Amino acid sequence: MTPRMVFVLGTRPEIVKLAPIIRACDRAAVDYSVVHTGQHYSERLDGVFFDDLELPAPDYNLEVGSGDHAAQTGEMVARLGEVFERESPDVVVVQGDTNSAFAGGIVASKRDAELAHVEAGLRSFDRDMPEELNRVLIDHAAEHLFAPTDEAADQLRTEAIPDRRIEVTGNTVVDAVRQHVQLAREKSDVLAELDLGEAPFALLTAHRPGNVDDPERFRGLLDGVGQYADDRELPVVYPVHPRSREKIDAFELDVPDAIACIEPLNFLDFLRLESEADVVFTDSGGVQEETCVLGTPCVTVRESTERPETLTVGSNVLAEPTPKSIVDAADEVRRGRNDWEPPFGDGHAAERILETLGVDVSAVSGEVPV
Ligand code: UDP
Repeated sequence: MTPRMVFVLGTRPEIVKLAPIIRACDRAAVDYSVVHTGQHYSERLDGVFFDDLELPAPDYNLEVGSGDHAAQTGEMVARLGEVFERESPDVVVVQGDTNSAFAGGIVASKRDAELAHVEAGLRSFDRDMPEELNRVLIDHAAEHLFAPTDEAADQLRTEAIPDRRIEVTGNTVVDAVRQHVQLAREKSDVLAELDLGEAPFALLTAHRPGNVDDPERFRGLLDGVGQYADDRELPVVYPVHPRSREKIDAFELDVPDAIACIEPLNFLDFLRLESEADVVFTDSGGVQEETCVLGTPCVTVRESTERPETLTVGSNVLAEPTPKSIVDAADEVRRGRNDWEPPFGDGHAAERILETLGVDVSAVSGEVPV
């Protein structure tokens, strides 16, 4: 019997990476509901993503909003308990490492529902990152661990998670990028809107607490990207996450002239910029993967990454938030060849995930646009 599913999500990367599975559920006539916790709640950080990715509106919006980790997670746990009571899911699907995924995971694992974790086995080995604890705890509670790569599956085995729970599926980010990049080329006017024309440019995203909550680190990051932009005559586009905007104002930071700060972008516009940029500077998880899939060199301003496969293939180089480190890293990654083989799968991760969960995917299978 096809399982009844509930998807729990709350932030833009979860919407992007669960979208291929949710759309496949529609095609395979799976009975499912989507619960949005409201962890990210603005139109720009989630509403536009449902439109771009052609997803139905969530069945529930818990409107939890921001708050400290304990209050936010506690609120989600209480409300998800009520939703699961009403929905009685056979399977609860969560993705990644957010508080929403953790709350969904913990409530599901204490009920008579199987917990499925999409993007299992990622580790930065940095327990100071709130996401790292969420990853570990969800993986150890889950019944189905969908690892994007062999390396992630090996990590789960070293933590004594039984093999029968682990499936290597590829990352659904490849499904999402390949299903939307052509649409982005056809529909997005962002290059013209930003007056970018044919000239080379760079893209920047930075919003991790480790970078933007510390004025010295955030200043070093902006100055480093600004210096690279000046040295190489490369204008930089920075769609600023609301938490970073708040910090720029609070710390009264001077953003270098070469960096154009704009509002966060919808997925198609952002994908277009990522695919056309000469280099991307980021501290995002999803952006490290998307640039790798798109063939765009990436500099990640962090001490560690839970996506080491990107370092191995040469699509990504880590940097400290200082001008010298950022400039050196950008030169290094742009010097390399960008014909690496993306290590995150073939764009059919969503089908493999549904098949493992007992869904007949014959109506779903097909060629993925490149
Ligand atoms: N993204 C977007 N618009 C933006 C910045 C990012 O659509 O202005 C997308 C990006 O393509 C990726 C996701 O948001 O799919 C990454 O989100 P974020 O960096 O917030 O989260 P992380 O991946 O670090 O968890």
